[in-house]
This record gives sequence, structure tokens and C-alpha cells, in this order.
Amino acid sequence: MGWELGVAEAKSEYLTETDLWRHTQQFLMNATHTTTYKHMLMKALLECTIELSDSGVLTFNQISRHVTKMYWSLIVTNGLRQVNQIGKLSSIEKTMLTFQATHEIPSTWNFDRLPVQQQQQLIRNVNQFYKKYVYGSFYASFEGTVYSFNRKEEWVKLVPGYIVFFEKYKRVLMNVTNYQLAVFLEKYNTREAMERILNKIEFVSARQSLNEFKQILLSHGHPICFYCMRPLKQIHVDHFIPWSYIQNDVLWNFVLACPTCNTSKNNRMAKVDYLYALVERNDDLRVAERMETYKETKLIHLYNYAVQNGFEANWAPKT
Ligand SMILES: [Zn+2]
Repeated sequence: MGWELGVAEAKSEYLTETDLWRHTQQFLMNATHTTTYKHMLMKALLECTIELSDSGVLTFNQISRHVTKMYWSLIVTNGLRQVNQIGKLSSIEKTMLTFQATHEIPSTWNFDRLPVQQQQQLIRNVNQFYKKYVYGSFYASFEGTVYSFNRKEEWVKLVPGYIVFFEKYKRVLMNVTNYQLAVFLEKYNTREAMERILNKIEFVSARQSLNEFKQILLSHGHPICFYCMRPLKQIHVDHFIPWSYIQNDVLWNFVLACPTCNTSKNNRMAKVDYLYALVERNDDLRVAERMETYKETKLIHLYNYAVQNGFEANWAPKT
């Protein structure tokens, strides 16, 4: 139901937090009986909240990039089946596996390792499918409350209440989505493929290498540790707001750090002084095409939301 809609407006009703929880829980309980499509869209939306425009818009292409990357990891890298019939492949599985075979890509490769043109081609293929079948049906699962969308112009516009809700409860929502996904996959996959399944799902979007970000930061600043200010011999790249909250890789959230600071900070957040230092650093970072999604207020909000999601902001380097 709902998948055939071309354009739909989100219902303009006032939603309390109880309403938001109710719609989301109903969605999570009912999303997957046949395939993993809707859960993957939910994960992509949670990952994409930091890419939203001021008016809450995401393009299908932005979302499809996340969906494609995750499916590549599940299907190609981890060999996980995505459909509720033994011996049958879902459309996304066919798309991924055919593409991999045609281009002779090793199954050990992360999506990031594919040449950019191949990435874009695969994203377009996934986008066609999601455009046709998934956005409308996802919309219907939330009883039309979560977003407006336009299939022709290829965008969704999230309802403001959901934007705040997704940020505020991102970690819990991501964990529950991952869990539901695992429950589905468990029914149709071998024990071998299911080994360490929650770990596989949780890190489905993690990059193999952050080298690209290291190079950009090195060419735009001094080789010193962002936290302890000591000159860098060995260089680590640190997610200022931890990856396990933000689940996305954007230049404005990366800093160069020494191994001691990076290891000691781990999954925690630095004290608020470092947030202000990052705001200043980002003001000086002149890499326009990498800063499109950046706003000072956004970074500050995310920092506060991460605290609400359980990440303590009390870390400082040892002096
Ligand atoms: Zn340091």
C-alpha cells in the first residue's frame, strides 16, 4: 500500500512525542515481512539527518548513496540474503551481484574502494528501484506522518517533529532498527552468514579508510594534534562527535589527532572547549565542496544531541 503514490504531502497534524514513538514502533514492528527495503531506508534516514537542508529536504540521490553502501556490505561483503524465499533473489540482490560479476569486483572490497563512476552507476540503479517501490510504501507505514515526497523531482522532506525525534533518539532507533533487521535476516540466512550479525549490521556503513580526510586536513592546516597540540609523528583521524552517534563521514566532523589522544578519547566526546575550537577550525577550512552540509549551529546541536544520546562530553587530553 502506498508504493504507487507519485507525490504525497505529509499529514499536517500536531504530533506529540508519544505519537512519534507510536508511529515509529508500528513501523518497526511491521516493516519487514518480505524484504529489508524499508529497514534500510530507515537506517539511511538516520544516517542522513546531518545532511538535511534547512527546510528538511533530502534528495533521493543522497539517500540512495547510503542505501547502496549498506546493501553492498550486507550482500556482497557479508553474503547475506535479503528476501523471504529460499532460492530467490530480491531485485537489489540481483542488481548488486550482477554488477559485481560484470565488473569483476572482489567481494572483500568495501563500497568506498569502487571507482567513483562505478559507485555512481550502482547508486543510480538502486535509486530507480527505491524511487519506484519504497518511498511510497515507507510513507504509508508511518500513516503519512513522516515526510512529504515527490517522485518526479526525487526528494523527501522530513516533518520537523521527526527531525528532532530522530536526532534525540538516534542511537536507540538505530539499535532497534538493526535488531529488527537481524531478526529478519536470521530466518533466511545460514548460521555461518549470521555469525556476529549485529556487529556486521552496526558497522555496515563504516569506511575502510579515512585517508582521504587525512590528506585534505593535512593540506589545509598544521600537522599538530587537535587536542594536545603536540606535533604529529603518527597521524590518526578522529571523529570529533563519535561515529557511533553520527554514523556518517563528513569532513567538518574530522580532526587530526595523535594516537594517544585518539585511543584515549575512543567513543567519548571532548569537553565543550574543543567544540568551540572545532567551530573555529571549520571557519578556516576552505574546502567548499566538502562543507556544503556544514553549519556552526548544526555542529553545536549535534554535540548536544550526542550528549542526550548518552555520550559523555568530559574527555580532555592528559597534560
Ligand atoms: Zn594528542
